[in-house]
Amino acid sequence: MFEELSKGELTLYSILIFLFLENLVNLYLTRRQIFVYETSKEIPEELRDVMKKETFEKARLYGLDKANFEVFKLLVCDVGIATIELYTGFVAQVWARALEVSARVGLNPANEIHVSIVFLVMINIIGIFKDMPFKIYGTFVLEEKHGFNKQTPGFFIKDQIKSFLVGQVLSIPIVAAIVYIVQIGGDYFFIWLWAFVGVVSLILITVYPVYIAPLFDKFRPLEDGELKTSIEKLAESLHFPLGKLFVVEGSKRSAHSNAYFTGLFGAKRIVLFDTLLLNKGLADDSTLADDEKGKGCENKEVLAVLAHELGHWKLGHVRKNIIIMQVQMFLIFIAFSQLFKYSPLYQAVGFPENVQPILIGFLVIVMYVLAPYNTLISFGMTILSRRFEYQADDFANGLGYSKDLGKALVKLHIDNLGFPIYDWMYSAWNHSHPTLLQRLERLKATQKKDR
Ligand SMILES: [Zn+2]
Repeated sequence: MFEELSKGELTLYSILIFLFLENLVNLYLTRRQIFVYETSKEIPEELRDVMKKETFEKARLYGLDKANFEVFKLLVCDVGIATIELYTGFVAQVWARALEVSARVGLNPANEIHVSIVFLVMINIIGIFKDMPFKIYGTFVLEEKHGFNKQTPGFFIKDQIKSFLVGQVLSIPIVAAIVYIVQIGGDYFFIWLWAFVGVVSLILITVYPVYIAPLFDKFRPLEDGELKTSIEKLAESLHFPLGKLFVVEGSKRSAHSNAYFTGLFGAKRIVLFDTLLLNKGLADDSTLADDEKGKGCENKEVLAVLAHELGHWKLGHVRKNIIIMQVQMFLIFIAFSQLFKYSPLYQAVGFPENVQPILIGFLVIVMYVLAPYNTLISFGMTILSRRFEYQADDFANGLGYSKDLGKALVKLHIDNLGFPIYDWMYSAWNHSHPTLLQRLERLKATQKKDR
């Protein structure tokens, strides 16, 4: 039967088969976790003193809702729509429209860069329509139902428009440059491509927190006081080049709490989510809802969380991740340079013979041809990330924050209505952080060793 298939069709079927297998694995693992949500009725022993039966039940139902929604999305988007799109040559149809639109808006349809830009914008707009029902349901039905949604429809719409516009402003010049570099770069264009994308990504990492993140969220400097002084002391004792300390109003978007630091070179800024800080529910703070009072961490616990974050810095985790990312990109570009002239790749997504746009080749190779490789790498990165998390916990532990870190992890987990029990396979495949119970166990074990 295979003799009757063209190479393009064979490529298409290989892509579809891998896509199907990958989704099958995801579906199976999520089903396993759903089984855990459905059958776990007992609070784990370690949490019995701190987690109320009522909270446990709430977290269970929240987790169950999220997992079922995940399955629905996977079946509709990742299996249904993706298969139909591939099968009907959707990408080639959009490209054909992009040619027409280019002529209509006064661009040159014979110029591949012009058409690529129009194609990119069109694909992104289509993507918005595909994602929107899920985003709206996720935010205004699912998160709302469990008390996490803090967005008004007005804020949501503005936020979506802003992120679309920022996305276009950033991606259009980058894609144009990539196509141009491939066009003029000669046989070794992948080296230029790598250098360009490498520099751009470093610039973005530097520019993003200072100029782009404030477009979406409100940042205010952390007020003077005990917390600020003790953070400064902690940073100084570790020789951390602390620039500014910010609090971000994360609660506008959602109530999930966090803390992070940014900045590659020179002074770094630490950002605390306001949801990390303790909501004392003071009488004068009338903006605080009843269910927000008492959420968040005491100062000592905030410091423990920061000790963990600074552990990531001290142990070079950010640098290591950036190096891995750069090596990754180099390998991907080499693979692209070797494969992009192979015409069945273009026929697989519906293009006629001899039409081989660079951007399409790039997307097909990175998204589909390298999909098995990407899956392996991302699994490897998940494992590495969990190692880094343990190391950062160990670091905080070494500074004497073991108890406070444990308490903070429990509190943040409960504030976020995280469910404490996970299927081991689901967790191994999906979680970038060890689970709460794993981290508590490790903190306890290593603390004992010190004594
Ligand atoms: Zn961490």
